[in-house]
Amino acid sequence: MPNEVTRGELTQPSYAAALDARDPLAACRDEFVGAESRLVYFDGNSLGRPLRATAGRLAAFVEEEWGGRLIRGWDERWYDLPLTLGDEVGRVCLGAAPGQTTLGDSTTVLLYKLVRAAVDAAESTSGSRRTEVVLDTDNFPTDRYVVEGIAEERGLTVRWIDVDRTAGVNLDQVREVVGEQTALVLLSHVAYRSGHLADARAVTAAVHDAGALVLWDLCHSVGAVPVELDAWGVDLAVGCTYKYLNGGPGSPAFAYVAQRHQDRLMQPIRGWMGHADPFLMGPAYQPAAGMRRFISGTPAVVGMLAMQDMLALIDRAGMAAVRDKSRRLTSYAVDLADARLADLGVTVASPRDPAQRGGHVTLQHERMREVTAELWRRDVIPDYRDPGGLRIGLSPLSTSFEEVRRGLEAVREVLLSPR
Ligand SMILES: *Cc1c(COP(=O)(O)O)cnc(C)c1O
Repeated sequence: MPNEVTRGELTQPSYAAALDARDPLAACRDEFVGAESRLVYFDGNSLGRPLRATAGRLAAFVEEEWGGRLIRGWDERWYDLPLTLGDEVGRVCLGAAPGQTTLGDSTTVLLYKLVRAAVDAAESTSGSRRTEVVLDTDNFPTDRYVVEGIAEERGLTVRWIDVDRTAGVNLDQVREVVGEQTALVLLSHVAYRSGHLADARAVTAAVHDAGALVLWDLCHSVGAVPVELDAWGVDLAVGCTYKYLNGGPGSPAFAYVAQRHQDRLMQPIRGWMGHADPFLMGPAYQPAAGMRRFISGTPAVVGMLAMQDMLALIDRAGMAAVRDKSRRLTSYAVDLADARLADLGVTVASPRDPAQRGGHVTLQHERMREVTAELWRRDVIPDYRDPGGLRIGLSPLSTSFEEVRRGLEAVREVLLSPR
């Protein structure tokens, strides 16, 4: 908490208003649908709000591009859209040079494709097969399930890193488990529960020292935390686009494969759209050169429309400014929790150092399940993560400081109200 501010001041509407007045990105909030309502939205890290511009984009697509161009649209734009828009995600949010990012499928399916491709290509220096995949016990369920399934299919061993649920995986833990047998390390850059931000550059280097590859899950980073995949030397990454990229429910995920690996990796879902010459309709599968080989079937073009508006907004704001606001929002939430909720037994289950925290904060209390249900009835929308975690997701461009203040005051009111 800033020293000069007393606990009383911090919770005043005038204090939140001053923070909003000083916020260089405050005006961005008006570009989102629903900005005028009193609803408090703490779930932009689960499903981002739509931008107003998106309604026009969707209508124009139906009328002009789909309705007007019909099947010609494939030649004109849609066929390459996974790659051209992938490049845009890479440029605006991932620190990735063109030709290394594609959109398609869900994060779950892309995890399957990239994990399978990586473990099948893994060999140790002696030429024998590397047989271990490393991940942490508190990684997102889909990441754990996919890896366990592949381990069964391919006769591999899963090496688990046991983590503190209020923090995340650290460098020493990674150094301890990787070795000659490690094929791949799969970690989340921002932990979905605690919001812990991993030191991706250092961890990537440690994995490389052991001769293994790293795959970063960026679901809770992309659009909230600056990512520098090329500069960090990352091998593989995936992430979703319906969270901080506001692509809408079920918008396709992205995959990044560093250029140096593309032509030696074979993904397991060999479809015609990843073929070197799809319209040859030839007898045998011949993977395309470059990123196209990671595409399987017809891309979900309609699902790729909305994220273009958010990418344009982030590009205008700049990722550094987005991160700066994100840090200030989560710090304010932590300060308010200390000032207004600690006396009710609420603890902060996220890193307190903003440099080690992504875009959300988790507050812990045994009653949070029922508190969340009551908050939803009051139009305050956080989400609940068992056991006892109230997750406050603060999408930087669509959330105001006043919203944070009102939302946390509502948590206090609900905790104080009789059961
Ligand atoms: C949201 C999220 C997913 C989601 O995967 P889907 O296939 O889109 O359902 C995966 N991993 C992490 C870390 C997530 O936060």
